[in-house]
Amino acid sequence: MFTGKTQNLGVMGYPVAHSLSPAMHNAALQAAALDYAYIAMPVAPEQLKEAVMGLRGLGFRGVNVTIPHKTAIMEYLDFIDEDARIIGAVNTVVNKAGQLHGYNTDRIGFIQALQQAGFQPAGKQVVLLGAGGAARAVLWGLIKERVASIHIGVRNPGKAQLLATEFQGTVPIEVFDWQDPGFQQGLQQADFLVNTTPLGMYPRLDGAPVVDWQYVSPQAFVYDIIYTPVKTKFLQQAEDRGCQILNGEGMLAGQGAAAFQLWTGQKADIAVMKQALRQGLRQAQG
Ligand code: NAP
Repeated sequence: MFTGKTQNLGVMGYPVAHSLSPAMHNAALQAAALDYAYIAMPVAPEQLKEAVMGLRGLGFRGVNVTIPHKTAIMEYLDFIDEDARIIGAVNTVVNKAGQLHGYNTDRIGFIQALQQAGFQPAGKQVVLLGAGGAARAVLWGLIKERVASIHIGVRNPGKAQLLATEFQGTVPIEVFDWQDPGFQQGLQQADFLVNTTPLGMYPRLDGAPVVDWQYVSPQAFVYDIIYTPVKTKFLQQAEDRGCQILNGEGMLAGQGAAAFQLWTGQKADIAVMKQALRQGLRQAQG
C-alpha cells in the first residue's frame, strides 16, 4: 500500500519494459517492509536531460540506469563515484538532498557473487572473453582484486586493445583474437575464465565464445555473466570439462542489492531478489 510518505525509485532505460529490476526491487522492498515504490521509466535518449532534472524536481530517492543511458547520464549528475568514473558508466543514482550521485554497482555484484561461490581471484591468471560495457566492470573488478594477469579474447582485437591500454600499468593485460593460436597459451595458464559476450544468451542458445576446451584445466573456475539460460552452452562445455561453473544470476542480484543499500541504507535479501528474478524470467519466456 503506497502512502503520502512513499519514496520513489525506478529504472530509466529505452526500451525498459523487459526490465526485471521492478520485480526484483519491489520484492526486496516488500520483504524489508520499506515504504518505497520502484517503477520502470522509458526515457528516449533526447529526453535524458529533462528526465534527470525531473528526478531532482520530483524528489526521487534514486534510480537505476540501463541501456542506452549508462554513460550519457554522467554529464547531468553532481558527483560520480570512483568505480563509475573508472568503468565509464553509471547504473545507480542516489538523490542526496537534491544532489545526484552516480555509482556503478556491477563490479561489486560481479566480485561478490564470485567470492560467495568460493573463488578468490587474487593472484590468479584470468581469461576474459569480450570487451564491451560489462567487460569494463569485470576488468576493473579483477584488477582491484589483484589478479596476476588478464588475457582478453575477442573477435575484434583493435577495440579490445583500447580497453587494455586504458588499464595499462595495473596488472599485465594482453589482447588476442580468440581464433589466434597465441590465445591457447592464455587458456593453458588460466585459473579463471569469464564470458562477458552475449553469445549463448536466450533466445540464441546455440552461441558460445570460441574456446578450445582441451587447453583448459579442469581445475579452472568458469563464470558466465549471462543469467538466462541458467546454463549457457559455454557453461555446459566447462562443466563437461570438469570445471566449477557460475552463471550471472548472483551478479545481477548483487548489483541490485548494492543499489538497494545505497538508497535505503539497509541490506537487501538476496534470496528474495533471486526468486523474483527467476519468476520474472519464467514469465518473460512463457
Ligand atoms: P556489449 O557492450 O554489447 O559488449 C558485448 C561484447 O561481446 C563485445 O566485446 C562484443 O564484441 C562481443 N560480442 C557481441 N556479439 C558477438 C559475437 N557474435 N561474436 C563475438 N563477440 C561478440 O554488451 P554488454 O552490455 O557488455 O553485455 C554483454 C552480456 O553481459 C549480455 O549478455 C548481458 O546480458 C550480460 N550482462 C550481465 C550482467 C549481470 O548482472 N549478470 C550485467 C551486465 C551485462 P564487438 O566489440 O566486436 O562487438
